[in-house]
Amino acid sequence: MLNRVNRVALIGTGFVGSSYAFALLNQGITEELVLIDLNKEKAEGDAMDLNHGLPFAPSRTKIWYGDYSDCKDADLVVITAGANQKPGETRLDLVEKNARIFKGIVDEIMASGFDGIFLVATNPVDILTYAVWKYSGLPKERVIGSGTILDTARFRFLLGQYFDVDTRNVHAYIIGEHGDTELPVWSNAYIAGTAISEWTKNKQDFKQENLDNIFTNVRDAAYHIIERKGATYYGIAMGLVRLTRAILRDENSVLTVSAYLNGEYGEKDIYVGVPAVVNRNGIREVVELELTEDEIQKFSHSVSVLKKTMEPVFNR
Ligand code: NAD
Repeated sequence: MLNRVNRVALIGTGFVGSSYAFALLNQGITEELVLIDLNKEKAEGDAMDLNHGLPFAPSRTKIWYGDYSDCKDADLVVITAGANQKPGETRLDLVEKNARIFKGIVDEIMASGFDGIFLVATNPVDILTYAVWKYSGLPKERVIGSGTILDTARFRFLLGQYFDVDTRNVHAYIIGEHGDTELPVWSNAYIAGTAISEWTKNKQDFKQENLDNIFTNVRDAAYHIIERKGATYYGIAMGLVRLTRAILRDENSVLTVSAYLNGEYGEKDIYVGVPAVVNRNGIREVVELELTEDEIQKFSHSVSVLKKTMEPVFNR
């Protein structure tokens, strides 16, 4: 195994995929990166463009545009491919359309002999992660969705900004659906080991509504960005790179991902955003935060909305 190197296969080189590839290259996380897209020209152009940045990269990455047979030796397949919501199209239309696209993609990947980890970012991410798990037949630990990793990052950024503290010293989570029913876990929100409820006591002009606004801005961030520039991609791309590092470097990092629940948080047979320990084998374990009654109720509502949306697609 002397020649064994890490290979990431990226399916979908649109805004999110190409930003991920760029960030991955800049952080020198993998030795090999293969780009695959229905639009071959786009994938080929991206491979050329990224290769020209190699002299400035921190380490060597072999980058090429390829096809599904390249997934055979991949440690990680990252999926950012899919259709976006069109005007007049319902969320359910999008779910059905992307589930069909995913069936085709996952079948091709599995036919290559792939036996690694899947990381999914396409929306609706919780449902499509479930789809990948179903279609691939891989163990639940090896199918991961980006879940609320970005929402949690937005939450930490805004809290850090509000309290004027480095965002990396903020420990707080957004859990639930990556979407309108997600929720902040205020009961487990800390700055440098101090509960937010304590920290706010030192802030002269503190008002509860400021915290409420922070969460609203987190939840609606995608709408605000899409209104201005049509899509969001840098934040999620960096979140996917963070996850890639946790996986390939066997970090046992706690990140909020879409993980399969089998009794945790009182829920079963669902992929949804929760903190989890992530390493080279995928999801080692789901971290069960102690929630308040109100948080439990909101989480369970979020799961029920996801289940209802999934019903027609998976005949559950
Ligand atoms: P995009 O339209 O720019 O890119 C999609 C790419 O998928 C295109 O290059 C297209 O050619 C490719 N594609 C479509 N069907 C394919 C197939 N069958 N096989 C291979 N490639 C195929 O879209 P984007 O802005 O990059 O967004 C991608 C997805 O990421 C969307 O679903 C978006 O909602 C989602 N997203 C998720 C998060 C998150 O937090 N999880 C954040 C932002 C965006």
